[in-house]
Amino acid sequence: MQLFDLSGKAALVTGGNGGIGLGMAQGLAQAGARVAIAGRDGAKNQTALKSLGAGAIALVADVCDERACRDMVEEAAARLGRLDILVNNAGINIRREPHEYTLDEWQRVLASNLTSAFVASQAAYAHFRRAGGGKIVNIGSMMSLFGASFAAPYGASKGGIVQLTRSLACAWAKDNVQVNAVLPGWIDTALTRRARDEVAGLHERVLARTPAGRWGEPGDLAGIAVFLCSAGSDFVTGAAIPVDGGYAAQG
Ligand code: NDP
Repeated sequence: MQLFDLSGKAALVTGGNGGIGLGMAQGLAQAGARVAIAGRDGAKNQTALKSLGAGAIALVADVCDERACRDMVEEAAARLGRLDILVNNAGINIRREPHEYTLDEWQRVLASNLTSAFVASQAAYAHFRRAGGGKIVNIGSMMSLFGASFAAPYGASKGGIVQLTRSLACAWAKDNVQVNAVLPGWIDTALTRRARDEVAGLHERVLARTPAGRWGEPGDLAGIAVFLCSAGSDFVTGAAIPVDGGYAAQG
């Protein structure tokens, strides 16, 4: 359908070499976009590239490093010839009780999940202005909405990403740039496989609270990515949309 056609568009997905980022990158590629994925691990990048079709590229970058993050955006735009879409998906979690975190751990989580999205968005904005518009999709979490005893910095970063989304949306609407957040429920990835190992009873709690009765798969995020990066969402901005099998709706 033309409304959701991304032919001729160029997209950068941070953390696109696995999990949710790869699920979204695959959706964008299937809708016709040329995709750049970025991650720290070059081997993971190369494996992921094979599922993204001809024309996709991979960049080795650490989004916590400001210079590397800005260079990543410039390299994606240069090699793809333009930049229309930025998906700020790279993220980590460190699970402890709040009083057990070191300041370095707190800062690592905030740098990975929140500051990187701000820096990459700043860098992408120049390209969007030149192109006459653009789309930013920021990845929040159920912890943008709810607290968790084992995730204070992660929750702070994911709450912050929603407010960052709203501020960017308000500022850049005049430039035809739409900025939205996706709040995934519990999705089966490397990140949450570790969480299941570290948090007793998590698997059962997620199943019990999710009306869909299952964990999500990375591919469950492909559709929302295509929608939020296409003309179909040109009047949607500043929104934070759960994709969670009903988790947030359940009391
Ligand atoms: P994964 O661990 O599977 O993927 C994380 C991705 O981020 C990897 O591609 C990793 O690549 C990349 N990454 C991490 N740190 C950096 C960095 N400093 N620089 C560049 N890339 C980095 O996790 P998920 O797919 O589960 O998570 C993706 C996003 O979704 C995160 O923001 C997470 O918080 C969010 N989320 C996940 C949920 C879930 O249930 N899985 C629920 C809600 C939100 P590399 O290792 O090569 O750097």
